[in-house]
Amino acid sequence: MAESGGFRVEVVSPERVLFSGDAKQVITRTLDGGEIAFLPGHISFLGALVENHTRIYLSDGKVQDLAVHGGFVEVAPDHVTILSDAAELAEDIDVVRARAAKERAEAAMRGEHDAAVEADLRRAHARLSATGGLAQGAAH
Ligand code: ATP
Repeated sequence: MAESGGFRVEVVSPERVLFSGDAKQVITRTLDGGEIAFLPGHISFLGALVENHTRIYLSDGKVQDLAVHGGFVEVAPDHVTILSDAAELAEDIDVVRARAAKERAEAAMRGEHDAAVEADLRRAHARLSATGGLAQGAAH
């Protein structure tokens, strides 16, 4: 059970638990609802996710940033579970690689638009945002 005032948050793939902890807020991005914040006590909710920078505000005051590339979020009053087979903790993200992927995708978009390249760009944006490097990357 989560501490009083908080809820349990887990980010899981079919193979492993990427993150588990007590938190007081989760912000993520759903397909239908855009960016959405969940607080303890939220009514049950199930949503599909798009590539995004997810923020988990932990009960101890820290913030866990993640890049989540789709999947689902399941919410109940005492927990939030993000189920995604493609998600990375901010501290595991290679910023140089993400910046290179963003540049490659942007160059490709100047030619022919295709859905796969758009998805590449959304993943790179989520990674750079999660590591705090999106604004800096965009300025150059
Ligand atoms: P790249 O073009 O750099 O390979 P990508 O978006 O095509 O990036 P994915 O296909 O989304 O990469 O991911 C392949 C694997 O590499 C996944 O396990 C993913 O977590 C990991 N990965 C991709 N980019 C990064 C990154 N910048 N930092 C850490 N892990 C990454």
